[in-house]
Amino acid sequence: MTIDGGRLHLAVQKSGRLSHNTRELLRGAGFRIQEGKNDLAARVENFPLDLMLVRDDDIPTFVADGVCEFGVVGRNVLEEAAAEAGTAPVEVVAPLGFGQCSLRIAAPERTVYEGPQSLAGERIATSYPRLLQRFLDRHGVDATIVRMSGAVELAPRLQIAGFICDLVSTGATLEANGLRPVETLLESEAVLIRTTRPLSPDKAELGEQMLSRIEGVLATQESKYIMLNAPEEALEQIAAMLPGAEAPTILPLAGRPGHFAVHAVCKESVFWETLQKLKSAGASAILVVPIEKMMM
Ligand code: ATP
Ligand code: ZN
Repeated sequence: MTIDGGRLHLAVQKSGRLSHNTRELLRGAGFRIQEGKNDLAARVENFPLDLMLVRDDDIPTFVADGVCEFGVVGRNVLEEAAAEAGTAPVEVVAPLGFGQCSLRIAAPERTVYEGPQSLAGERIATSYPRLLQRFLDRHGVDATIVRMSGAVELAPRLQIAGFICDLVSTGATLEANGLRPVETLLESEAVLIRTTRPLSPDKAELGEQMLSRIEGVLATQESKYIMLNAPEEALEQIAAMLPGAEAPTILPLAGRPGHFAVHAVCKESVFWETLQKLKSAGASAILVVPIEKMMM
């Protein structure tokens, strides 16, 4: 992989469960990704940024070594890498709100499970041996870890192991294989990570610009702009009801003494129930509009 000195490098999963959402996030932040023939990297046309297309397991190392200044990876992969003795650290900059899953121990439905002690002397198949070992150590349980790189959920049926420790999102795969979760080791989602190696001032500045755009997208995902009218006596109560809003703008309504327009950015989801409560408190002409871009 050749590294171009003046550009930032973001390690992303080449193809897999994180690829689509990672690209969507970057597009949403205004980065135009060139879909070239090169299958190791993709260039961003309108910003000095290159995406390094790699296996997710390699992302923590690339970022720790400073080969890539930033990366997008599941917390599960990051923690498994970090649990290896002597691994260089990376900084978690922001959770990205996709790729949610949890690392769980599961067993065939008929297996009796009465807490971690039930794992003593058992065989557990997993692709996350270090996180599993940490869990077992924490509970003082001795069990045999069977490392598998995929299709872990088949292990009990193949009689390779009595338990598995694997990523679960909806639970449908477990269910389809006659398994039920018994322990949760980790809640995970995709995170943006940054190298702890010092960056040149130019790169640090580019990094800040990239982060500020990404944070802008994350902030707008739930945010809404609310406008409503209200009589003066209801203003205080209404302002307190606006979800996640700081310092709403309050303007007098022309030709309606004692009535005001209230405008606010709400940084949490706005539900119909909220609107109903605002209306009951005296608000009228309530408008909720999406926010396209936001820079804090
Ligand atoms: P690679 O070829 O890059 O090594 P992979 O097969 O290890 O890919 P994927 O299955 O694409 O990885 O999963 C990537 C990440 O997606 C996981 O590490 C995890 O953070 C997240 N993820 C979300 N839901 C799930 C799920 N149900 N099963 C597995 N991973 C999930
Ligand atoms: Zn992987």
